[in-house]
Amino acid sequence: DDDVCVASNMEGGKHLVLVASPFQGHMTPMLQLGSVLYSKGFSITIAHTKLNSPDHANHPEFLFLPLSDNFLAIDASANFTKFLELLNDNCRMQLQDRLTQKIQQANHQIVTIIHDNSMYFAEEVARNLNLPSIVLRSCSASYMPAFLALPKLHADGLLPVQDSMLQKLVQELYPLRYKDLPFNNTCTEISKEMLALSERIRTPSAIIWNTMDFLENSALTKLQQHYQIPIFAIGPLNETARCQSTSFLKEDTNCITWLDKQAPRSVIYVSLGSLATMDENELAETAWGLANSKQPFLWVVRPGSVKGSEWIEFLPYGFIEETRGRGLVLKWAPQKQVLAHTAVGGFWSHCGWNSTLESISQGVPMICQPFFGDQYVNSRYLSYVWRVGLELECLERRVIVTAIRRLLVDEEGEETRKQANNMKEKAKYCLCKGGSSFNSLNNLVEFILADCN
Ligand code: UDP
Repeated sequence: DDDVCVASNMEGGKHLVLVASPFQGHMTPMLQLGSVLYSKGFSITIAHTKLNSPDHANHPEFLFLPLSDNFLAIDASANFTKFLELLNDNCRMQLQDRLTQKIQQANHQIVTIIHDNSMYFAEEVARNLNLPSIVLRSCSASYMPAFLALPKLHADGLLPVQDSMLQKLVQELYPLRYKDLPFNNTCTEISKEMLALSERIRTPSAIIWNTMDFLENSALTKLQQHYQIPIFAIGPLNETARCQSTSFLKEDTNCITWLDKQAPRSVIYVSLGSLATMDENELAETAWGLANSKQPFLWVVRPGSVKGSEWIEFLPYGFIEETRGRGLVLKWAPQKQVLAHTAVGGFWSHCGWNSTLESISQGVPMICQPFFGDQYVNSRYLSYVWRVGLELECLERRVIVTAIRRLLVDEEGEETRKQANNMKEKAKYCLCKGGSSFNSLNNLVEFILADCN
């Protein structure tokens, strides 16, 4: 039997409370982690905000604990750290009260609280209830050394990054350039506030990282030294979890029928995740880049992602006629299925960590267009270290055409395509018996069963 570690008690078994965050890129890996730990014999409660609630019907194996947060939407233009602070304040007492009630019941078996790093209030609740807590990190490990270096870079007067410095390498963060630093182009305030928030997590027993050892060994080693607690790299969770859709938006599955009609590896899939936005001009350059590439495309334009419009009102005149039959524009895709489809030959992405892992798992090479935070770091690693991606130098239609043709058809892209295939094999191997993520997951289960000691 491959499953060497299984929590002993299925009926009313050892119970884990997973505290999820209302961001799509954080919710998905938390639900996936829940599925994986459920398959290891734990019972799972997902505590979540009412804002961006997961669809309970898609996860009959879980119990759910909704927390009122008093938010109607995530306002991307509002102060992000203030938003997180309020969210944490609003949820703290509710979680504590609900878990206290559960614990007072005679047969309670709550053994650990696992929380998203942005839901740091859960750690305080765990401490008050005398339970161990574990943090789930859903960003890349390679991002963290850059994130942790921000105060020093700031003290040295290097932030915000000057134009003349953008292409230069950052000492001690090789191979990152100044342009790859998180928050390189925004005010330094946000990076200071983000750091302050991350310091709210003080005494976790361990960290679960959605990554693979072979991909980020050097960053994981550094982080191990920094945090001095066990780090379990058990990714990619998108491959191990057997759960249904985790999307907040409705997935348009018609695109799969359309993909069925396209030639193998011919389609460029374009999606910038759940938060990134663009303006009208950027939309037009993207549109003409896709049209002029002459390749079939599947393009996700999330409602509200084009500033000042509901959906695709600003698509340039003539674009639809020009690309009729060759392209599909949709609101939200079943991305995992799309990336697994043989017709898809490339992924033009904002390099969010989930998208990155999903693409690597399917051997799909990428065009990298980062927008903020860890996406810059991921983009640099994808293009320069893992060599499965091409950096998009600028959002200009001719540059886009060159990138798409190189990624999908031109001889120059052959190495990138081959390397993407190699990575897929390595990722698979991590999850096989004896592979690093397979072993880490079993170690995590043992760790939890030993009361996180
Ligand atoms: N996603 C999806 N359909 C889409 C676009 C994105 O299902 O049309 C999913 C994608 O598979 C990924 C998540 O949304 O799991 C986005 O997370 P990521 O970390 O890539 O980026 P973020 O949204 O956090 O910027």
